Amino acid sequence: MNISDALTKLRTKETSAVDLVSSYLEKIKSSDLNAFISVTEQAALKRAKQMDDSGDFSAPLAGIPIAVKDIICTKAVKTTAGSKILEDFIPPYSATVWEKLEAAGAIMLGKTNCDEFAMGSSTENSAFSITKNPHNKECVPGGSSGGSAAAVAGGESLAAIGTDTGGSIRQPANFCGCVGLKVTYGRVSRYGVVSYASSFDTIGPMTNTVEDAAQMLHVMAGQDDRDSTTPDQPVLKYVEGLQSDISGKKVGMPKEFFETDGIDPAVKQATESAAKMLEKRGAKIVDVSVPLTEYAVPTYYLLVKAEASTNMARYDGIRFGSHAEGKDLTDMYQKTRGKFFGDEVKRAIMMGTFTLSSGYVDAYYKKAAAVRAKFKQDYDKAFEEVDVMVAPVAPTQAYKIGEKADDPLQMYLGDIFTVSINLAGIPSLALPTGKTNGLPVGVQIMGKQFDEGTILNFGWHLEQEAKYTS
Ligand code: GLN
Repeated sequence: MNISDALTKLRTKETSAVDLVSSYLEKIKSSDLNAFISVTEQAALKRAKQMDDSGDFSAPLAGIPIAVKDIICTKAVKTTAGSKILEDFIPPYSATVWEKLEAAGAIMLGKTNCDEFAMGSSTENSAFSITKNPHNKECVPGGSSGGSAAAVAGGESLAAIGTDTGGSIRQPANFCGCVGLKVTYGRVSRYGVVSYASSFDTIGPMTNTVEDAAQMLHVMAGQDDRDSTTPDQPVLKYVEGLQSDISGKKVGMPKEFFETDGIDPAVKQATESAAKMLEKRGAKIVDVSVPLTEYAVPTYYLLVKAEASTNMARYDGIRFGSHAEGKDLTDMYQKTRGKFFGDEVKRAIMMGTFTLSSGYVDAYYKKAAAVRAKFKQDYDKAFEEVDVMVAPVAPTQAYKIGEKADDPLQMYLGDIFTVSINLAGIPSLALPTGKTNGLPVGVQIMGKQFDEGTILNFGWHLEQEAKYTS
């Protein structure tokens, strides 16, 4: 079922909001995927009942069950960011994005599991549980929005929201076989979303279909006075442009992506066949170049860990969050942060503090910031020639739980195809196109800044051709 089917059923009273919400809650309860950190059963049923009683399902997402990544603040509902340091944190306000979805009638089913502070690519860095891939429970769901991806692909929620700082929406969507949209930086307000790397963080929908993503984006996007990085760009009715003709339009294949070491043949093949499908719909395929691709991972990790080290400073054991006793202030800081932060967060703080320290800041941080600007220029140049680009999302399909958990470098290298898009700040839509080795494969479609409409349009055509079913 997709969002418009559900809306039709609710509006014609073929189903009630309580029945719809209950069916997902049942599924969550009988599942062992660990997609959720908390389930807001009572609140969800209460809201559904209110909607049924009012009988008004005219709002754009009226009665639609949604799972929310546990890094997005939700008023009076525990928000842990996957961390022990926020294990008991109950936000006094909601993030703008959740306020907007709620105002559009969405019903929250619960908060989904994620890597601690969204640092990771497999959800194994969550302090709470290991989320399993719905297609193969021995495999990771990807990360950091692994809970949201597993919830949607596993039929435990009709849709979800996630965050993408360096691939955390697209890669789990790709591993679990659902649609994930990484928006242009600034397209969706970050207000109330726990920060990982503030100049990279984006929030987007994770859904069963491209149309669902378009419907959600229309509600989620827009200027917000509480986030100064959201420009006053028009928010379109993205659904209306989905079926526009793409014949004669140009699709770029960034050649460096295919020359990368360690790219799985199944992934390469999926990308090539996606290009053929778009060709069948009349698009022209051309080679383009993003010359710095091999530097994407070091550039990205240098910058995000620097930003993360400053963002993590607020968890001091005093203002909010978990607290450990110490003999003096310094000892208390050390005990609190030592006890409640996980390994990847500690790595981020150490790496970031090092690269920002005097003597190294020019050699590392400032150099990486300059390379980031060059990425943006390279993408701008490539987009002078093409309307969109098609590329793999990750070098491999979902891998086994535990396979990379103790090897941070291998984990980082798996982000090669997602992070350069975040460096450039452009939007990208991941969608499944088939299944190989029992696991989903798919591609991402990248577009120009604030041109989400075009990538959704291409995504819709690709979805029609690929006919992916789980
Ligand atoms: N794996 C990447 C990281 O740890 C991306 C995470 C994300 O997009 N939040 O930085």
